[in-house]
Amino acid sequence: MFTGVNCAVAIGRHLEGFPSVELRKIIEENNLFIELKKRHKRVRFADAYLVDDVKEIAERRFKSVTTVMALTVPESIAMTEDLMEDRALMQDLTRETIQDRYPDIPVVPPQRAAEHLFRLALLNDFTLYEFFQTDVSGHSMDYARACAVLRTYDRFLAALVRCTEAAGITLVMTADHGNIEAIGERGHTRNPVPFIAFGPGEAWLRDRVNSLQDITPALLEAFDR
Ligand SMILES: [Zn+2]
Repeated sequence: MFTGVNCAVAIGRHLEGFPSVELRKIIEENNLFIELKKRHKRVRFADAYLVDDVKEIAERRFKSVTTVMALTVPESIAMTEDLMEDRALMQDLTRETIQDRYPDIPVVPPQRAAEHLFRLALLNDFTLYEFFQTDVSGHSMDYARACAVLRTYDRFLAALVRCTEAAGITLVMTADHGNIEAIGERGHTRNPVPFIAFGPGEAWLRDRVNSLQDITPALLEAFDR
């Protein structure tokens, strides 16, 4: 999704979860954030890392694909201070999952989180937000929990779409694998994922994206055109 490279072919197997050294190399050399930076675009990863220094993220042994990419453009990274000042979002939107560890960070309704993301989008050329409670709740196989997560996400999206539509911002929503749609299975699924584009670039993007591999080239082309 973030490289335009079919990494399963490149490394000879499909890899779930944290990228290997080999896969990290591919991501570090060539990714959406780096390419946008080369084009002098302001890029932001909206999910806050609860640290005070980017070094603390770089030193982590396990890094997600998105983390590996964001570290290649360190100024894209949001940290605790950004979250405290509503310049970032928590990966669960409402911050409920961090209340036991960070009681000083106030819980926000999903509609408010949408406003925070919208403000970031106004300040940047490309803003990425990663929500993975859908994945976590899919793994839990807990139907009630999955429904609660989807309700939260739905409220967030309704508010976000209202804002981006009024501002003429293109909103893209997609996923790198299924999970929550098959609550009776614990793992990721191989079902096709949605690619939803909404706003000025919607038709143009939809015409160009048929697989995960198309996403980065299509987004870059959208900026080049
Ligand atoms: Zn998962």
